[in-house]
Amino acid sequence: MALGKDYATQECSIASALEVIGERWTLLVIRDAFYGVRRYNDFLVHLGIPRAVLAARLQALTAQGILEKRRYQESPPRDEYVLTDRGIALWPTLRALGLWGREHLTHVRLRFFRHADCGTELGPYGECPACGTVVPVPDVEVLPGPGLNPDPADPVSRALLKPKRLLEPVTIDPV
Ligand SMILES: [Zn+2]
Repeated sequence: MALGKDYATQECSIASALEVIGERWTLLVIRDAFYGVRRYNDFLVHLGIPRAVLAARLQALTAQGILEKRRYQESPPRDEYVLTDRGIALWPTLRALGLWGREHLTHVRLRFFRHADCGTELGPYGECPACGTVVPVPDVEVLPGPGLNPDPADPVSRALLKPKRLLEPVTIDPV
């Protein structure tokens, strides 16, 4: 029997959230948006995702108000996709999933997250142990960890070898 496409019998808020973010690739698109990926081609090369799937996910996330489409070039017309406040509110979810995956599955540290203002690594709840505050997403800096490939093939991964703040657009070096 084929799986149904929704959780019609569930009133649980986790089920409601999964209706929006539970499809394959969706959370990885959102993860990349936190890393500052905004453009279709950059998502494409970084994720290695089929084109039609990426287009569908971007469309769905925009329709759900998680990403906002912004025109950055008129001719030819080109749009980029930027997280809304509703999307940024998913940060603790991604953070918790990443920690769980590392502790229980991969045991490899690919990236660090630290408080940009003071350089202290974030605690498990996204807090800065030194400042005693939950760090706002734009003040979180992402850095490569020891498990990360130091010489990746795609330009987005290369851009992410340098420390950068979340949400700030990735700077892709021209090839
Ligand atoms: Zn701090």
